[in-house]
Amino acid sequence: MIELRTPAEIEQMRPAGRFVAESLATLREETKVGTNLLAIDRRAHELIRRAGAESCYIDYHPSFGASPFGKVICTSINDAVLHGLPHDYALRDGDLVTLDFAVAVDGWVADSAVSFVVGTPRDEDLALIETTQRALDAAIAAATVGNRVGDISAAIAAVARAEGLSINTDFGGHGVGRTMHGDPHVPNDGRPGRGYPLKPGLVVALEPWFLHTTDELVTDPDGWTLRSADGSRGAHSEHTVAITEDGPIVLTDRSFLGVA
Ligand code: MG
Repeated sequence: MIELRTPAEIEQMRPAGRFVAESLATLREETKVGTNLLAIDRRAHELIRRAGAESCYIDYHPSFGASPFGKVICTSINDAVLHGLPHDYALRDGDLVTLDFAVAVDGWVADSAVSFVVGTPRDEDLALIETTQRALDAAIAAATVGNRVGDISAAIAAVARAEGLSINTDFGGHGVGRTMHGDPHVPNDGRPGRGYPLKPGLVVALEPWFLHTTDELVTDPDGWTLRSADGSRGAHSEHTVAITEDGPIVLTDRSFLGVA
């Protein structure tokens, strides 16, 4: 079922968006070569506790999960791109890191992800990250009243195709509200003019993610972490966006913090 939010409810969602934005900025700043993924999770937990927020991940136990997630942030490294379960690993020079963070503040959820490199980057990793950011920008630009879900999907796919990337449509964007995952599903590829019409008050997480040379994923033995089937690296950019009469509002925008 698709739920639409009133303008007042969208205002109520702003603190969650702002908290996720500030947390990702802080965590990105503190994540360096040598940082352990478990330390990132502990730090995220501390930020959540201090803000009186609630993790959407820790008890998350969908049908495909072997057990509840048990951590408060997803840390996907190199060929891992989605749902990375934090584990005992110290980041190495040149690692490509994706942090994906979803929390509820005052009962409203915000969800956002960012990819970056610690230490010395490879040019192709920076290009992949830039492509996911550009695809997210295109998705946000298409998130306007009068468009349809397919217009967002097509905008994401056009950016990826121009870079010769292939696209996985199993995992994509989703409605966000009182819970982390709602309707509609917003695939990262689709046909313009098709799908659910975008109405004022629809709040969605838009999340282009791409791998260098495949669109196929395999699941780690941990039951959560999704890696590329061919070992190539992945990147992911995600924002929670409210569609309004006055255009899209990026609730998890970090640009006011001076960070990407
Ligand atoms: Mg997310």
